[in-house]
Amino acid sequence: MSSKINTKAEKTQALPISNLKSKTYPLSSLPAFPISKRPDNRKNFNAIWEILSQTYPKPEIELDFKTPFELLAATIMSAQCTDVQVNAVTKVLFPKYPTIQNYANADQTVFEKEIYSTGFYHTKAKHIIQCAQIIIEKYDSKVPDTMEELVKLPGVGRKTANIVLARGYGIIDGIAVDTHVKRLSNKLGFTENEDPEKIEKDLMKLADKKDYDDLSLTLIFHGRRVCNAQRPKCDICGIQELCPSAFL
Ligand code: SF4
Repeated sequence: MSSKINTKAEKTQALPISNLKSKTYPLSSLPAFPISKRPDNRKNFNAIWEILSQTYPKPEIELDFKTPFELLAATIMSAQCTDVQVNAVTKVLFPKYPTIQNYANADQTVFEKEIYSTGFYHTKAKHIIQCAQIIIEKYDSKVPDTMEELVKLPGVGRKTANIVLARGYGIIDGIAVDTHVKRLSNKLGFTENEDPEKIEKDLMKLADKKDYDDLSLTLIFHGRRVCNAQRPKCDICGIQELCPSAFL
């Protein structure tokens, strides 16, 4: 599949927070099962997913990119950084580096300054430049489209590989587990694991494969907009009646 252009016009139109509560289904419309207050809440996954997928219809990645390599670079830069900040950096960076060869030949010191505001700039710059060099040498200048090949690139783990596969190539392999997906999966009782790869496996047992990418994005949006790490807004949360962590 060819690469897609990701523009702001395509970005997810999440429902206003004031509407979230109204998306709560009356309990009478839900399957008859007890509301779990225990950590293991996997039996409520389908009901929670139904509500969240209607709250955040057609979720789209919030990083700007036009090619799989730009997506790869932006995802590497997004570690420990907001998508808004990454987009501010890539708005200037991407036009200056129009081809993968430009990244492979980049002066690392200059490149570090250009991505400085995304944090961890030394490691990120090194990985992006090395990725470009390896992709040119081993993959004929095309970002690989398999999990096995992607995770061999510097700075690329399963999270980044899943994002590049799903949103760069439309290939669904696994579930990208970032800090929001990790936190919400634990809060919602879908996993008791802390390791992202184990959480990914737990989520893959619950969700349909076709929903893997949407599930990741949806949990990210709910984590950013409602279930904040510091102060979760349980009072306006549409899944409060199904969440074992509500108001705790
Ligand atoms: S009810 Fe509270 S803890 Fe549970 S998902 Fe909603 S905001 Fe998060």
